[in-house]
Amino acid sequence: MKKRFALVLAAAFFAAAALLYLYFTGEGEGAGIPCVFYKATGFYCSGCGASRALRSILHLDFYQAIRYNAVFTFALPFIAAYFSALIISFIRFGEDRISRKIPMAPIWIFIAAAVLYGVLRNIPVFDFLAPVSL
Ligand SMILES: [Zn+2]
Repeated sequence: MKKRFALVLAAAFFAAAALLYLYFTGEGEGAGIPCVFYKATGFYCSGCGASRALRSILHLDFYQAIRYNAVFTFALPFIAAYFSALIISFIRFGEDRISRKIPMAPIWIFIAAAVLYGVLRNIPVFDFLAPVSL
């Protein structure tokens, strides 16, 4: 229990540090996570623009966040709720009592939508989905 709690505290500390770092670094200062897929192929993946979207969310610029990565911006509240519930479960019970209660169908639908989003944002007619700054 103590070991798991220490892991949860360490994860929360690193998440808070990453959010602070993103908040206080500006656009174009190299604070984002470079995309290996984009560097290798020149095509955007589903995750391209996610760190810039997170920075925009931290600055309460939700419109720009959607412009950088709409799927990430939509998914973030669900991801945050899941990890918050997971942390609370570990603190209260010492184990994961959350994951097995989540139905898989919506997760598979989301994964399919994310893959489709990754494909569409590289097609010129859907270039409004590309991660761009306004
Ligand atoms: Zn990418």
